Amino acid sequence: MVNRLIKRGKSCIYIGKLSSVYSVAICTEQQGDLQGRQCTPDGGAIVVAGQGGNVYMLLGAHMSIAGGVYHAPYHGKNATCDTVQIFTKQSNQWRAKPLTDEDVERFLTAQKETGVTVSCAHNSYLINLASPNEELYEKSYGSMKQEIERCDMLKVPVIVMHPGSHVGSGEEAGLKRIANALNRIFSSLPDSTTVVLLETTSGQGSNLGYKFEQLAAIIDMIEDKKRIGVCLDSCHIFSAGYPLQSPKDYRATMKQFNEIIGLKRLRIIHFNDSKKPFGERKDRHEHIGKGEMGLEPFRHIMNDRRLNRVPKILETPKGDDLKEDIENLKVLRSLITKA
Ligand SMILES: [Zn+2]
Ligand SMILES: [Zn+2]
Repeated sequence: MVNRLIKRGKSCIYIGKLSSVYSVAICTEQQGDLQGRQCTPDGGAIVVAGQGGNVYMLLGAHMSIAGGVYHAPYHGKNATCDTVQIFTKQSNQWRAKPLTDEDVERFLTAQKETGVTVSCAHNSYLINLASPNEELYEKSYGSMKQEIERCDMLKVPVIVMHPGSHVGSGEEAGLKRIANALNRIFSSLPDSTTVVLLETTSGQGSNLGYKFEQLAAIIDMIEDKKRIGVCLDSCHIFSAGYPLQSPKDYRATMKQFNEIIGLKRLRIIHFNDSKKPFGERKDRHEHIGKGEMGLEPFRHIMNDRRLNRVPKILETPKGDDLKEDIENLKVLRSLITKA
């Protein structure tokens, strides 16, 4: 299903849910509306061969919503992003100002004007659906539900969440609580279209999600499986001890991911290098190629055709002029091996 079509000069981009799985911009002769139309990417979008036609590989970064959610696509455009990730509210506060119709309108217009899509939201860091503390658990439940409702309003297709920390209650108990909370949220929001993505984590402290099996265990307990997916963070899996350096290592790690979770559940990739060494279970993001990971893992991912349709988002440090994002995106685009 195609939600809407954007035309930018000679280029054409579909934004929306092309299937129940992906939110991507795509350019393909097979798509009726585009028959015979020339599709030239601008704004740095890269056309790569994908199943069922050429695909604009969506690359971007997390963008600030200071001053209003509609700012994010404009920042994205300035930083040569094809797509961006946002918080739908201030990430360090429980409270959220309700979204008005005008907020939503401006947000959708911003995407149309810039051609920069918002492919995902990220939930607040305060939320812990694994918490053994009843009060915090209920607060997290309410807050997560509200964030999903905000995504529905803003037509953001997926929301990435850190699974949560068990805080001493044990991994199994934590995983169960996460699944229970999500099942409760899903059944209380039967018409929601937002898919929740569990993010792979580095496993700092009692954070869950540092093993593919843990995410699979949560997914297994979810009743409505079309509402759950996964976000893979390159820095996190590296620091959690999944090797990505050599082609052989990369293939083995992705094979594990595919067998345990399933590539079809992978909806967003977070692109971060790691300040901390392999396997240390410390979550510190570094610029692409400047950290302990180096460029090779990113080269493998950028050239993995199975992942062409998965939007790839930077969460690396940056200043107001976004020059670090521009540089990181340039580096990533340069890694694509021309066919
Ligand atoms: Zn991340
Ligand atoms: Zn991180």
